[in-house]
Amino acid sequence: MYLPLNNNSEEFRTVTLQPGNFEDEVECLLNTVSAIDQLSNRYEALSYVWRSPESTTAIKLNGKTHQVTKNLESALRHLRYIKHPRVLWVDAISINQDDIEERNREVTRMGQIYSQAAGVDAWLGESFENSNLALDAFGVFPTSMDVHWRPHENEALQNLVCDEATMDALSKLFKRPWWHRMWIVQEATLAKNLTFVCGSRQITWDTFLVPAKCYQKHFGFCCNASVNVTWPIESLGHFFRPIVVISGSRSLHETMDIERLIPPFRGRICTDP
Ligand SMILES: [Zn+2]
Repeated sequence: MYLPLNNNSEEFRTVTLQPGNFEDEVECLLNTVSAIDQLSNRYEALSYVWRSPESTTAIKLNGKTHQVTKNLESALRHLRYIKHPRVLWVDAISINQDDIEERNREVTRMGQIYSQAAGVDAWLGESFENSNLALDAFGVFPTSMDVHWRPHENEALQNLVCDEATMDALSKLFKRPWWHRMWIVQEATLAKNLTFVCGSRQITWDTFLVPAKCYQKHFGFCCNASVNVTWPIESLGHFFRPIVVISGSRSLHETMDIERLIPPFRGRICTDP
């Protein structure tokens, strides 16, 4: 299935996700492209958690049965269009995982692959643990820097943060593995457009970022917990933290040396340490 990539060229493989209904088997085609530049902005790169390599399921790849992790299969199933193919770059499929030499070489090109993609789709996982409730909260949080985060000035916000189910759903959404992995740092940092996919919902990066930034501006300054002891606004800062961390790396326009990169990211997890 995998023809070797030419070592001396810029060749890389894309994955064309074939159209289909949600319940249809996932079918993909491998395509070798002579250079990333040639396909610049015409593919999307997938950012996801590999999860346990033992937990696999079958997809069709170039017409043959191919095993991928269940989490990847689910991501592809949710990303698939009904009528149109979708061109992706997916590490586990685009790179021949049985070819160690190729794996080592392709890892050094990840920066180029993620930065030249039209966008990066970050797969947070299926819809569970009330994730839709958590996502709905982002339609209620203030998105203007001028709006205070005070209960008596915003009834909808007060109802939201006093709702235990919503606060629990937010906590669980931001504890999902994607936020705490090592590889996602570069994938999310380099993305021109970052889109989150959670079950059937798609969320733009700004949908997460704008309220988090507004909150940061107000909490601890003009708005804080002392206004009302039953006002659990502090928890929001905790939930927004993974967003703020990624925002920090996305706004870096300098090259950071390894000594500065290790402390903030050393606690992150990856399948193959
Ligand atoms: Zn304020």
